[in-house]
Amino acid sequence: MALIVQKYGGTSVAEVERIRNVARKVGAMRDKGNDMVIVLSAMSGETDRLLRLAHQIAPNPSEREMDVMMATGEQVSVALLAIALQSMGYRACSYLGHQVKILTDRSFTKARIKEIDREKILQDLKKGYVVIVAGFQGVDKENNITTLGRGGSDTSAVAIAAALEADVCEVYTDVDGIYTTDPNICSNARKREKISYDEMLEMASLGAKVLQIRSVGLAKKFNVPLCVKSTFIEGTGTVVTREDMIMEKVLVAGITYDTKEAKITIKSVPDVPGVAARIFEPLSNANIVVDMIIQNASVDGKADVTFTIPKADYRKAMEIVRRVGREMDALDVQGDENIAKVSIVGTGMRDHPGVAAQMFSTLGNEGINIMMISTSEIKISCVIEDKYTELAVRVLHDVFGLAEPSAQGST
Ligand code: ASP
Ligand code: MG
Repeated sequence: MALIVQKYGGTSVAEVERIRNVARKVGAMRDKGNDMVIVLSAMSGETDRLLRLAHQIAPNPSEREMDVMMATGEQVSVALLAIALQSMGYRACSYLGHQVKILTDRSFTKARIKEIDREKILQDLKKGYVVIVAGFQGVDKENNITTLGRGGSDTSAVAIAAALEADVCEVYTDVDGIYTTDPNICSNARKREKISYDEMLEMASLGAKVLQIRSVGLAKKFNVPLCVKSTFIEGTGTVVTREDMIMEKVLVAGITYDTKEAKITIKSVPDVPGVAARIFEPLSNANIVVDMIIQNASVDGKADVTFTIPKADYRKAMEIVRRVGREMDALDVQGDENIAKVSIVGTGMRDHPGVAAQMFSTLGNEGINIMMISTSEIKISCVIEDKYTELAVRVLHDVFGLAEPSAQGST
């Protein structure tokens, strides 16, 4: 008998029959004597529908009111699940964020959880109830409703699991786990049995489709065993856990790619103190997140600086950098939207210095030019021309031995 927190995503509760299916799964676990706490998303498409409604009325609706509205999606799904469980003869009770209570800061639409009152949930569990909590929402200390950012129910589930010291937090979704790369690109991508928190955090661009990345950081901090599973297919899923809990040591755990960035080069700026700040301060003031940055060795006291930013901010960033470039007498500002960032991630590469060289030579052998490189302890990223994204992912997936053994080389 265990205390289990399960989270079901929007597709898992998308319609009445699916809610019944969730109720049957929860009921079966309850029958085995487990204490069950269920966190739900809104029915799929609902949060988007609500957002559209508000934007039909005003282009920039107040964030406080957006949260009041967006929190309603989860109110419906939790009540429906409670009704489904009750109709099957179980004791079940649904709660909203403010009832539990999930206390957050007051940054509407992207609030952070500060504290969860576990007493009420524990009391209900003791009485034999399945406790169902609305994901994605909380309440600030002035009793305003807050939401945690898109995909925030994952974070609600992990935070509740941490507060209750649950034995496991299972996240049920429409995929059966975390793969070595995007199966849409590599038909021989393999599901990982286990992956470390750090690898999962670094695989954000791949994993974010499955888990809100903030939930992984939280799981790591509170050492919550996290398991990603499919609602629709039986299976063991992928366990996200501490590195020392993983016996099978791999060099590279996965290959990710990101085609949502663009790069900007500001050419021949004076190589003197304060220049980087003059370029990047106005970008940060405009809320533009800079990812990779390189500055080449200076020639005659001048250097080129190249960096990447989200494609969505490309125009705004170019305007800012052109202005800064004029002020600094830069030679030119060049932009390129046709880039992709391909990364290899794995804690094993910490002790294997040859991994970077192997990545570069693999790309080189395919005639793929590397425009930028960045490295961390467990991740190496290369910026390449975007038309080579799929090729790069496939050859790297093969060279690092990630393919399904029976399907080796079949891509
Ligand atoms: N319903 C919210 C969203 O669509 C939260 C979630 O599903 O996790 O972003
Ligand atoms: Mg989600």
